[in-house]
Amino acid sequence: MVKSSSTETLPKSFYITTLGCPKNTVDSMSMHQSLLKEGLLPANDPEASDFHLINTCTFIQDATKETIQTILDSIDLKKKSNQKLVVVGCFAERAGKEISDDLPEVDLHFGTGKYDQAGDILKKTFPLDFKEVKEFNEDILERLTLSSGIENYSKPYSYVKISDGCNRGCHFCIIPNLRGKFQDSSEESVLNETRKAIAAGAKEICLVSQDTVFYGKDTDKLLHLIESVSEVKGLEILRLLYLYPDKKTEKLLDLYGKIDKIAPYLESPLQHVSKSVLKSMNRTGEYSYFKSLFEKARSVKPDLEIRTSFILGFPGETKDDVDEIIRFIQDVKPEKVNLFPYSPQDGTKGALLEGKLKDKEISKRVNLVRDAYLEVLKDVHQARVGRTYDAIVDEVTEEGATVRRLQDAPEIDEVVFVENKSLRVGQRGKVRVDSFFELDMAGTWVN
Ligand code: SF4
Repeated sequence: MVKSSSTETLPKSFYITTLGCPKNTVDSMSMHQSLLKEGLLPANDPEASDFHLINTCTFIQDATKETIQTILDSIDLKKKSNQKLVVVGCFAERAGKEISDDLPEVDLHFGTGKYDQAGDILKKTFPLDFKEVKEFNEDILERLTLSSGIENYSKPYSYVKISDGCNRGCHFCIIPNLRGKFQDSSEESVLNETRKAIAAGAKEICLVSQDTVFYGKDTDKLLHLIESVSEVKGLEILRLLYLYPDKKTEKLLDLYGKIDKIAPYLESPLQHVSKSVLKSMNRTGEYSYFKSLFEKARSVKPDLEIRTSFILGFPGETKDDVDEIIRFIQDVKPEKVNLFPYSPQDGTKGALLEGKLKDKEISKRVNLVRDAYLEVLKDVHQARVGRTYDAIVDEVTEEGATVRRLQDAPEIDEVVFVENKSLRVGQRGKVRVDSFFELDMAGTWVN
């Protein structure tokens, strides 16, 4: 799509830059649809657009820095291309006043919870840039979803959001302040989104949320939802993300054993294993419970791999607490581990706690745990070599194909590079792992 501002007869165009996690990608898709409905057209890159929207992230300090840098870069771009710059999402929710005061180049900002009204908000703010939409055509809308920075529909996977917000109140986390209380989507709307994504070419659906197992609270609504989604015609792989490590996840694991389409993948962020640190983080669980939870996951799907995360340096954390994480990693051997240095976020209870550690000490602790994990990772990699896995082809280029084992989530985990150009995107089959790099692997397509 070309930039339209110079041609009076063409509608204006938009591009969405998405930062942060897959949940933001789903929100950007919702904005994309809303903007199309108001008659804007997608642009192929930010420079070519009349409206450049940035969907921001502020989950941790690094994410905030990346957001600010992206806004500053986009201001430079805006000066060259005379476009309107719109900042939305978590950072806009948190720092709306600072954006208004310090960044006059930002033409409009709005926070979370309004993604599906983006078109209407832009139209009311910039009425002269909108032409009347005579007839809204769903077929055109489906075809246009290939552009504007939202590329999921050209891939064999798609994200479907089942809820937003969170009621847990972990003391390090700003998300409940930004996204509000937990609200779940109806089963019908999740099924509709799933069907739409599959009709557009997805074979894998990743269900995302801030807190997946909170869906339906203490009822079996989540189990029912997963069963219903797994039965949607054309769906081949169902991946569940963000499972809080508690009894509900334990119950959910029984379904893993019963539904073949559920990917052999458990993503459960532990954040710590020391009972006292978890308590001060306002989270539940402890070493032995987490170990038994992960053992159960591996027993219901023997090939399953686990992704988890830890926050190092929370106020009051002792060296023994860090040793406990290291012991856990060596003992339980989660295949994929994210490590975050704790950084206090204004507006959270953690920021008010005593016992803050120096940044240098926090980095030291992160490095200690990382070293322990990298040792485990060598064994994890070595154990994969020579093994054959169920897989899906994500991308094919002149060099060959990017293939993903079902043990790996799209855009998050490792991939297998295969020198085979005859494969098709979305093709299912088996890949043998032949060797590995730091994270990714090289392999051979075997059927
Ligand atoms: S469960 Fe905790 S870490 Fe996750 S979104 Fe909710 S408050 Fe944040």
